[in-house]
Amino acid sequence: MKVSKFGGSSVATATQIKKVLHIVNSDEERRIIIVSAPGKRHAEDTKATDLLIRLYEKVMNQLDYQTKKQEILARFSDIIDELGLKTDLLQKIDDTLEHHIKHLKNNPPRLLDALKSSGENFNAQIIAAYNTQQGVPTIYLSPKDAGIIVTDEPENAQILSSSYEKISKLRDIAEKVIIPGFFGYSETDHIVTFPRGGSDITGAIVARGVKADLYENFTDVSGIYRANPTIIKSPEIIHEITYREMRELSYAGFGVFHDEALQPLYRYRIPVVIKNTNRPDDPGTYIVHDREINRRRVVTGISCDKGFTSINIKKYLMNRQVGFTAKILKILADNEVSFDHMPSGIDNISIIMRTSQLEGKEEKILNEIRSQCEIDELNVEHDLAILMVVGEGMSAVVGTANKITSALANAGINLKMINQGSSEISMMFGISTKEAEAAVKACYQNCYA
Ligand code: ASP
Repeated sequence: MKVSKFGGSSVATATQIKKVLHIVNSDEERRIIIVSAPGKRHAEDTKATDLLIRLYEKVMNQLDYQTKKQEILARFSDIIDELGLKTDLLQKIDDTLEHHIKHLKNNPPRLLDALKSSGENFNAQIIAAYNTQQGVPTIYLSPKDAGIIVTDEPENAQILSSSYEKISKLRDIAEKVIIPGFFGYSETDHIVTFPRGGSDITGAIVARGVKADLYENFTDVSGIYRANPTIIKSPEIIHEITYREMRELSYAGFGVFHDEALQPLYRYRIPVVIKNTNRPDDPGTYIVHDREINRRRVVTGISCDKGFTSINIKKYLMNRQVGFTAKILKILADNEVSFDHMPSGIDNISIIMRTSQLEGKEEKILNEIRSQCEIDELNVEHDLAILMVVGEGMSAVVGTANKITSALANAGINLKMINQGSSEISMMFGISTKEAEAAVKACYQNCYA
């Protein structure tokens, strides 16, 4: 049995929805389908979810929101009309949006989640109704009826493990089942969304719940590229990648598959395949638990993410002072800052975190370090990018680090930091933001040319 999830661009128009249902109906094993809200129809378009967020902002700022609401309704009415669907769904969408606004406007986080969920919620109903009208028995199931019960943390839902029992019952449904992605219900019966891009998470939860043989994640590319295609022209597609590799690459910017979506799948080793709705016969990329190492392709992928800051601290004889690092980390923890890397030397330490973590707190944190830690020197480096070179095979093949650092040296790129975890599955380099693209190009050339 397969669970198949279709992303926003796959369900953005009637034509795309027809493609989706052709894929779904051509395989009996595709029984449970998760759908996103209508995504972008072209590069300048706005996703339905973003329109819904704009609607929320209008309501909150007490502005006239009717035009924005009409824009949202128009997205759905275009789809309904083009599908030739006989339905009163459009009126229901309008009524639901008004209902949420009326009842939740004094509770902003709840209103935001309720409005945001509407994109997937109504798309799922439209798609189920159309497939039924085409003669394929199909039911729409709300996340509540599907058993997706989550923590009550607006915009950051986590599945409750007690949900899986009920979700497993979805296996017994004979019809095709369409479930909206991106949200669940709290135990107190509130709509709570996952983080952005969270339909992938719904798909993973359902795949785990029904113990699917395969979780198919359909998008608008034929798999995961070895490097960002806006930097490298037509990069190779990865055929197979492990969960661990995927996690490392998505950490540093590979956005095709939500990193939180791997968690439910990991324990049960449910494989994922990333496929293209527009080219469903392309093999796609498999994300699996274990794979054979390809010695010609030791590096699986290269990613680079910008927006990091490094706090660099020097203290003579730091290595002999007990509790020095603990003091610094406590300051960060007290200020609710989580850090990502901590490369160190005998008398120095750098703490790297996403710059957004420091917003509004940087000066306070630096002052606390200065006054509490008796340091010799402190400086802060903004505009840091993190380059990740990832591959399970790196531990078995000698010379990969040499290959990468030579490529970077030849391109004149200054390595501010190097870090390799004990698992040897990835190498991390701290570089200047302005050299990010050049670094990816240099590594790519060297690894795959
Ligand atoms: N529609 C939501 C978003 O744009 C969730 C998703 O598509 O996965 O973030």
